[in-house]
Amino acid sequence: MRRLALAAVLLLGACSAGPAPSQVVPRSAPVPQPAGASTVSAAPSSPGAAAPACDTTASLRPGPLPPAGQMPGGSAMARIQQRGRLIAGVDQNSYLMGFRNSFTGEIEGFDVDVARQIAKAVFGDEKKVQFKVVTAAERIPVLRSGEVDVVVRTMTITCERLRDVDFSQVYYQAGQRVLVRRNSGITGVDGLKDRSVCVASGSTSLVNVVNRARTTVSVPNWTDCLVMLQQGQTDAISTDDTILAGLAAQDPYTEVVGERFTDESYGVGIPKGQEDLVRFVNGVLERMRADGTWNGMYRRWLTTLGPAPTPPAGRYRD
Ligand code: GLU
Repeated sequence: MRRLALAAVLLLGACSAGPAPSQVVPRSAPVPQPAGASTVSAAPSSPGAAAPACDTTASLRPGPLPPAGQMPGGSAMARIQQRGRLIAGVDQNSYLMGFRNSFTGEIEGFDVDVARQIAKAVFGDEKKVQFKVVTAAERIPVLRSGEVDVVVRTMTITCERLRDVDFSQVYYQAGQRVLVRRNSGITGVDGLKDRSVCVASGSTSLVNVVNRARTTVSVPNWTDCLVMLQQGQTDAISTDDTILAGLAAQDPYTEVVGERFTDESYGVGIPKGQEDLVRFVNGVLERMRADGTWNGMYRRWLTTLGPAPTPPAGRYRD
């Protein structure tokens, strides 16, 4: 009883005193930018000479897939089987492609399903996969260090990246567009000339847009860009239509505008020197196309992008 009365007094005291003047935040206080935000002045030059033109969409021809649980001795797949789990680099910040479901705590999405299909082909069990969350900029480093077996993370196959890592065949064809606040007056990438744009560092999106906008800010994750757009710190976000669809679904006050202005062919990133794993992953992707798994995944995650397209056809160089 006494404790209750004391609480009431304290409460009353707090009400009548009001917030101390020093705690009042003036309306004009600058809103902090997301951690790691920095202004990019020009397209980052790649180390050494720019990569010569190459055929990005041709990969290694798959052989017949070994039965699950029976990976050929000495192969990269046998090593994964022995370990008991596939280690896959994925995103947890791109709703629809790779994101953490806040109800279940599980990582889900189209890319995550691709990783699960690879695990299923090795083990016969799609749950035997350990996800390692990586930002766009961390994809090449984790592949080079061998911390992961594969990266399945909206990763465009480029000639520059092919110098550092290998890729599967194309499993999804995306394209870059622009996301803005509704009624912004911006109708596409050409409208960015006198506006600011936000991109993730280490992405092809940055390189594609930096010379087309007045100011470019880079941040670690695409959701950081959404926060900047919501706080009025950027006029637009520009990246793949897959990622923008996820951001737009999270904020009804935003819209995707303009046509695609690039081709972003997604491949599974694989550390160099593992031809057997590249062929195996290509076999898994072939099977996913043939047995309708790919279409099922599209319908589960990506119908906001329109009716299911024909999955990209396999192209092989040898
Ligand atoms: N597809 C682009 C890339 O590979 C953007 C993907 C991303 O930033 O997640 O760089």
